[in-house]
Amino acid sequence: MRELIHKKEREISTISLLEQMERTYKMIPMEAIVKQDVLRQGINFYEDSLSLNLNYKPKDYFIFSFDHIPLAEMKKGEDKKAPEEIKVSGGHFQLAPTVISTRNNPNSPYVVRLFENKPHLFLENVDLGELEYPPVPSWYRHRTKNGKLPSEIAPVIEWGYLIYLTVFRNCQYFGKEEECAFCDINHNYRQQRNAGRPYTGVKDIEDILEVLSWIDKEDTVAQVYTITGGSVLTNLKKKSEVEFYLEYPTAIESQFPNRWMGKLVAQAFEKEDCKRFAEAGIQVYHPNYEVWDKNLFEKICPGKSKWIGRETWIRRIVESAEIFGPSHVIPNFVAGVELSEPWGFETVEEAIASTSEGLDFFMSKGIMPRFTAWCPEPYTTLGTQAGPPLRYFCELLTSWKEIFEKYNLPTPPGYGEFGVGKAVFSVSAFMDVIGYKGRN
Ligand code: SF4
Repeated sequence: MRELIHKKEREISTISLLEQMERTYKMIPMEAIVKQDVLRQGINFYEDSLSLNLNYKPKDYFIFSFDHIPLAEMKKGEDKKAPEEIKVSGGHFQLAPTVISTRNNPNSPYVVRLFENKPHLFLENVDLGELEYPPVPSWYRHRTKNGKLPSEIAPVIEWGYLIYLTVFRNCQYFGKEEECAFCDINHNYRQQRNAGRPYTGVKDIEDILEVLSWIDKEDTVAQVYTITGGSVLTNLKKKSEVEFYLEYPTAIESQFPNRWMGKLVAQAFEKEDCKRFAEAGIQVYHPNYEVWDKNLFEKICPGKSKWIGRETWIRRIVESAEIFGPSHVIPNFVAGVELSEPWGFETVEEAIASTSEGLDFFMSKGIMPRFTAWCPEPYTTLGTQAGPPLRYFCELLTSWKEIFEKYNLPTPPGYGEFGVGKAVFSVSAFMDVIGYKGRN
């Protein structure tokens, strides 16, 4: 029996903790362990690492803040200068190149500072490797006819692989009674606007098509686009939720048929609505269920619970597989919220047992649940809090991989290459663990 760790324990990252995880979790690569821990703790960029004479793509704040502190408290200009992602290689654990999303946290034990004029990642003064920052796509230099920046209208993430189209930057689940408790979409919109950042609430299809025309001509890295945004409960621009979101892939696919793989992150829709999206050209559907446990779903997703309900949500996920094909239904869950205060489980074991039940439920049907690592953002209902211990993420990755292999599932489509040194999905390590054979 592994020792139980109480959810309230605030676990500090150390080299010895990482080495302990390396010895214990041999079926997941060390790259995945470090990646999850950096995501868990965020990154403290020293000023020298943000003042490099380098052309790199900074954080575009593509949907949420994914930071541990408010923008207004970033004293080193992290909100404008921190790179979207880092790619770390070499160092103490001899890491293969590993892409990790940036979550600013000036209190993180993970420090980025210069060493021999290059940015490196340090933990307890131990060098974990040299960093690359993501390149700026050539087409970022343009402006739309409406004067919009491509980085705001159609930013890329995952090292340029994914064009992220948050077409509605708010959610009509509003306030503590309805917003998902981990989500800062509405608060992030306000803080970005308050900081003077151009941040379009509802994106104009013409702006998107204009930017995509440059990507079409100039870019060879981007392979996929995601259409997403907050939920629409009544209507938006006089359209229902389905009609509103459907306009985007319809316009994109009629102008650029099959140029990129189209993905949709939205609520769980009925089959006939899913069919309309599939006919419009959407290939991968992400009806995110966020957290598996029934009680936690009601507490943590009060809007989804009230307006749609967990049973209906799950039924719709399962039925959408008849439209897109099971492997092309990829519902996300926010890993770690099962252990959050005040409603979460008491132990890592309970959290993993519950979440694994959900993984098995979906994967047994060929559906491909994936996860992002929870970032406790300050303006959310859950607020800033300790978050789960690293052991939780190691257990989760091990369980996800075991169940994925048990059902002999195909590699999830729309995520680029898989495996150590190749995966570009940056907000969790599920793509990094695929195909790993283990170590002695
Ligand atoms: S449905 Fe929940 S997670 Fe999605 S944008 Fe709205 S509040 Fe956020």
